[in-house]
Amino acid sequence: MSDTYDLVVIGAGSGGVRAARMAATYGAKVAVVEEFRVGGTCVIRGCVPKKLYVYASRFNDLFDVASSFGWQVDASFDWPTLVAAKEKEITRLEHAYTSNLEKPGVEIIRDRALVTGPNTVHLVAGNRDLIAKYILVATGAAPFVPPIPGYQLGITSNEAFDLPALPHSILIEGGGYIAVEFATIFAGLGVDTTIIYRGDCILRGFDEDMRRGLEAGLIDRGIKLIYQTTIKSLARHGDDIAATFSDGVTAPYGAVMFATGRNPNVRGLGLETAGVKLTPAGAIAVDAYSQTSCPSIYAVGDVTGRAALTPVAIREGWYFAETVFNNNKIAVDHSQIPTAVFAEPEIGVIGLTEAEAATHGDVDIYLARFRPMMNTLSTRTERMVLKLITEKDGGKVLGCHILGPGAAEMIQLIAIPMGMTATKADFDRAIALHPSAAEELVTFKAPTYVYRDGQKVGG
Ligand code: NDP
Repeated sequence: MSDTYDLVVIGAGSGGVRAARMAATYGAKVAVVEEFRVGGTCVIRGCVPKKLYVYASRFNDLFDVASSFGWQVDASFDWPTLVAAKEKEITRLEHAYTSNLEKPGVEIIRDRALVTGPNTVHLVAGNRDLIAKYILVATGAAPFVPPIPGYQLGITSNEAFDLPALPHSILIEGGGYIAVEFATIFAGLGVDTTIIYRGDCILRGFDEDMRRGLEAGLIDRGIKLIYQTTIKSLARHGDDIAATFSDGVTAPYGAVMFATGRNPNVRGLGLETAGVKLTPAGAIAVDAYSQTSCPSIYAVGDVTGRAALTPVAIREGWYFAETVFNNNKIAVDHSQIPTAVFAEPEIGVIGLTEAEAATHGDVDIYLARFRPMMNTLSTRTERMVLKLITEKDGGKVLGCHILGPGAAEMIQLIAIPMGMTATKADFDRAIALHPSAAEELVTFKAPTYVYRDGQKVGG
């Protein structure tokens, strides 16, 4: 038995859902095949629950400064309450996603999909075939865990949200987004937290001032950082897990979490039967229109290894639908993507880092460091950092990097003028909003230092 569709989408995450909805709106007959929950990583075990847990963890910092504003707080935290509240919210979102698919007529099929040819998808549990004019692979990515002895004793971000109880201590391996965000969460909720990272400073690829600023903020919150070291093995140690490091040290932890990157979900999808090629890194290779090497098969989101961010997947899904079902060939511009790290302090960035900009001709660097007003009544010394990178002499803004409260919200708005190729003069024309942290971005007078012929001058 077989059914015929204009589009079969594999994966009901951010990219797949947007593509399916848009294609159906344009009149296509669409089915989405999903083996887990509707919503994908972002809604079920990524961005959404992560941000809720970040909010939970931030009360710790608030309680810390509360007394300087006259408050006396006697606080305690209950993990099961947070887990249950999170579950209620993501279930609500899952239902919203489901009805948003059903409204324009998308059929949701709960099954595992297997590509069996350029235009056929086999449903594993249902044991039937779907015929599709187009197939969209939007299967996302999954945590990569180094295959060390005892790795099964560790958890990943998939499990971290639903631990039966908070561990007394946790060792988190990795220095990327997930490692620092979860370190913030666990430390804020009172867990003795250690990051172990193979490099010499967290957040490789970010601007140095952001990396060092966050590093100081993590240390300030009691998070221990072990650099240039990896976990070599894990073993049971009573109720704990004993981690042995590459330097020979062994130490017990209540839990061990791997935040060592994510791999595109391509295994067992049958892509080879349709001649879909992969990149050397194991992602699905696509062109600017998300088309794979098999003309009837497209792919969007993390499975393509472009930028593993929800709004990028959503945009790719939308533009796929425009291109294929609305006769409007349009490619996503991946060149300027705002991004945030929801650690404590928070980071928001867009555009070139200082190191990158220094290789792009003569540039000016405007840098502000100050205590956020919230801290001024307390003994907290943590500084906020705002950095604007422009072409020389007030030219185009090339990068903006913010560390501190509200960084993500600020960078989202900075993305608008930067998308319009704003100059320093455009920023200067804006009247400052006082008192705010963001006003620093429109009140910079002279550069803090500059790069001329690749050399740093001043500062
Ligand atoms: P990242 O790629 O950000 O970080 C992975 C980390 O693991 C790096 O520090 C890397 O080291 C390290 N690592 C990789 N392999 C090994 C290994 N074999 N042994 C030891 N360490 C290793 O991945 P994440 O898992 O943190 O996040 C995945 C992606 O999800 C991000 O890149 C981002 O696109 C997205 N994301 C976005 C968020 C947001 O927008 N706020 C939040 C969470 C995730 P090295 O630096 O040396 O390569």
